[in-house]
Amino acid sequence: MASRPRTVRVPETANASILGTPFPVQVNHCRTPGCANFGVPARTSPGKRGPSKDRDLRYKLTSTAKGQEPAIECKACRGKGAVRSNAAIAEEIERIAGYVRPLEHRFACKTEGCANEGLSIGEHRHLYVRRGYYKTPENRYYQCKACQRRVLVSVKVPRIRAGNRARAADVFSRFANKSPMRRTVEGAGLSGNSAYYRILDFIHRRCLEMNGSVTRAFLTGERHLPAAMDVAIDSQTLMVNWPSRVQRRTVEMTSCCSVDSASRFILELDVNHDPRFDAFDVNHESAELGDMTRKEAFRRYARFWLTGDEMRSGRTGQRRMGRAAAERAVGDIQDAFREANAYDDVAEMEIVPGQGPLRDHMLRSGMLVKTGYRTLGHMFVLREILKGAGVERLQLSMDEHLSTIASFMCAFREPIAEGRAHGFLVRYDKDCPIDDRERLYKESRRQMEAFAQARNLEGMSREELGFEMIRTALRGGGLPEHGWLRHPLPTLQEPNKEVRWITEHPDMELDDRARLYLGASLGRVDNVFELTRRFLSPLERPFYTPSGGWNQVWYGYAPYNPDMVRKYLDIFRAVNNFVHTGRKDGETPAMRLGFADRPLSYADILWPGERIPKPRRIRRKGRALKL
Ligand SMILES: [Zn+2]
Ligand SMILES: [Zn+2]
Repeated sequence: MASRPRTVRVPETANASILGTPFPVQVNHCRTPGCANFGVPARTSPGKRGPSKDRDLRYKLTSTAKGQEPAIECKACRGKGAVRSNAAIAEEIERIAGYVRPLEHRFACKTEGCANEGLSIGEHRHLYVRRGYYKTPENRYYQCKACQRRVLVSVKVPRIRAGNRARAADVFSRFANKSPMRRTVEGAGLSGNSAYYRILDFIHRRCLEMNGSVTRAFLTGERHLPAAMDVAIDSQTLMVNWPSRVQRRTVEMTSCCSVDSASRFILELDVNHDPRFDAFDVNHESAELGDMTRKEAFRRYARFWLTGDEMRSGRTGQRRMGRAAAERAVGDIQDAFREANAYDDVAEMEIVPGQGPLRDHMLRSGMLVKTGYRTLGHMFVLREILKGAGVERLQLSMDEHLSTIASFMCAFREPIAEGRAHGFLVRYDKDCPIDDRERLYKESRRQMEAFAQARNLEGMSREELGFEMIRTALRGGGLPEHGWLRHPLPTLQEPNKEVRWITEHPDMELDDRARLYLGASLGRVDNVFELTRRFLSPLERPFYTPSGGWNQVWYGYAPYNPDMVRKYLDIFRAVNNFVHTGRKDGETPAMRLGFADRPLSYADILWPGERIPKPRRIRRKGRALKL
């Protein structure tokens, strides 16, 4: 699939598939709800110049604010939006939802030239026959009907001997209770780092299966979510430190999370890192294809940060560079990658643009995905989950990022047009010091009390009063020009909170509108991020053990390997949804949604449906550890 030449005006529709039937992705359309062109795609092929019959009457081609990337401008509403590669979005959808695909979807006949070569067993059941298993029923054999060869479907799960099962559950509980790695190794009586990481891999595998089976049930409609849902979406920056010996830089990754506000159930959680691609191969192929000389949306690898992109977009912190100098440096990098075959060890290759060495920070492990594409992929996956699980009405609270808003407008364009999906922007003072938070909290409480007194509404609950206050504000002349409403509910978590409706429907009843405004909040997703920060703290440096020494730590497990971030987040998601209970109601998010009648134990996740000896007592927070 080579990059398309410039004869394409905007990228063609792409197909994405998660389970079963593929669905089309075309996001190059007007993103202003209510506009006549909302959701109507721009023409993909260029017409003749000047007035002609096949001219695009809806859009004109222009460029983004910075003038660097092509954009479309809607002739009806004058709204501008960056042109995006639909193929790259489809790739992101498939990457993010990869954990959902059952094993059979990942295996196919490998016989060269066979009619079934590359056609997955899961999606083409009729082409294969089941043929028993290898050693355990988990390793299933299928026979290809065309070439008669057998295909083994199995996943490499690290083995945990029966006698060590209680120990694995113990490690899991310590890990989930944020015990640092060193203390877990000591406390659980492990021989060293490598034993710890082997168990961690096993835990991750099981959590991933658990998350996958839940999302699969949503997608297929086997499991239903409430018909009306409030979801909060946000992203979080994670800094991954590299040891000074390798690189003196910090890699910035961002995770994106969608949470059901009512239950704190995490619907989707991903990070903008694709471990399946090798940075060297991708950069090399891009240089060969001439990708770097094309605008992003027309590249083969539109979704990745390629070497030189940072300089081009002025993101480099090292040095400010003029446009011409940046272009020259990018050219040098491309040349270096083209000539790279001459190097014996690619890892030793250094790229030297201008002065000072610059090494691609991702050269050793996977690729960073541009967050614009990641967020688009995430939104489409969320849409498919909600659609499959029978959600009919959605309220989505999000931050003010343009890419989040645009992603929402693209992925949910049909329910938005039908008035079934409502988007709200939420902003508040994130860096507000705690003293000010308390002062602001008291202030809005006083305002609420004054409102209640003036109208004899003293017996009302906080929510009811907030609803009344919003109704009054909306009725009395409506909102200020900019559309932001100061949210009346006092909250310590979101000081100075203001909300704005971005999918406004003129015919909606006042009460329904007020209810939407009342529900707009990022509180739940902030909660989750707060928890992940503590959860990720064990991503610490490896340490020395007398038995194992330093060398036992493999590079693949080092905390500076970006793939570890995703593993930790996968584990966190399972623990959040099924294990940790709320302080007030003693329930897990899965219980609140009616998917479980009790919190799961760590052993339940590791060995579903099996009886495992109880792990040793979980150390509670605050109790001093005697050594
Ligand atoms: Zn428009
Ligand atoms: Zn075959």
